[in-house]
Amino acid sequence: MSETVTDTQGQFRGWDDEGHRVIVGWVNRDGTEYLVGLSKCCQATGKGLMDEESGFGYVGCRACYHEVSPSLGGEARLALDAQGKPV
Ligand SMILES: [Zn+2]
Repeated sequence: MSETVTDTQGQFRGWDDEGHRVIVGWVNRDGTEYLVGLSKCCQATGKGLMDEESGFGYVGCRACYHEVSPSLGGEARLALDAQGKPV
């Protein structure tokens, strides 16, 4: 599994409806692309994290660990393509 995808490696595909940049996280065996969104703070992918004080889980930025939109914890859905046109 190449889940160590870092940021700018993936091809840029557009933006999601929250304004995150969306890149190709990886290509599935059937040739379809799994898209991931990038955090606005660091342009990094999201990661499931645990707040040690409260014990609650959250989705954080892989680079700085700040909490980000839960949508970054899963597959991204394009709202705009790479040319900025609605998908
Ligand atoms: Zn960050």
